[in-house]
Amino acid sequence: MADLLQSAKEIIGRAPGRACFTCSFQAEDVAVLHLLLQKDSRIPVLFLETGYHFPETYAYRDQLARDWNLNLINMQAAQTVPEQESAFGILHQTDPSRCCHLRKVEPLLEGLSGYETWFTGLRREQSPSRANLQPEESHRFPNGLTLHKVSPLYDWKWQDVLAYLTANDVPLLPLYEQGYTSIGCAPCTAKPAPGEHARAGRWGGQKLECGLHTVSEKDE
Ligand code: SF4
Repeated sequence: MADLLQSAKEIIGRAPGRACFTCSFQAEDVAVLHLLLQKDSRIPVLFLETGYHFPETYAYRDQLARDWNLNLINMQAAQTVPEQESAFGILHQTDPSRCCHLRKVEPLLEGLSGYETWFTGLRREQSPSRANLQPEESHRFPNGLTLHKVSPLYDWKWQDVLAYLTANDVPLLPLYEQGYTSIGCAPCTAKPAPGEHARAGRWGGQKLECGLHTVSEKDE
């Protein structure tokens, strides 16, 4: 654990330029946030406010924002949930990729402009789609933006995340106590079956990623 922590701090320490952090307030994101605040207490914390999160997620976000005096920026889609549902119906049931694009990817692209480094809480262990994650990657987005994408916990296991948060007296989002292992928008989050990977309960198993981490191309 000491080696992992030292490595994460070094990765954070060498990240270049103006940085932001996208935060879903899941456990690994909160661990990264706790580490980032030790370097920059005013780092912009971008939360993708889709309008579909669990009440528990909003309450936890607001509690941490108060307790840690976060520089929280809620990124919102062009349309409210009622406007989108009126125009297109319930997209998370009929076309979740389009829903994610409208409510997550488009706001993300807007939110990331102006930064050179994008910190994430991604970990290799989370799902097969993240197995080849590197701690530092250069990413090009469809709008021309290029960013240094940094994932300090890339090689941490779930137990390492829990150990770090416990050691620092950081409470977890209460939904973990109910058996959730990966927590996003409420309509697209279910508990995985025993033995499945952590993200198996997302989108009813139809997909593993919302698009935030697949919309950009990695520079090799
Ligand atoms: S996770 Fe579900 S509700 Fe949230 S933006 Fe994607 S499809 Fe829509």
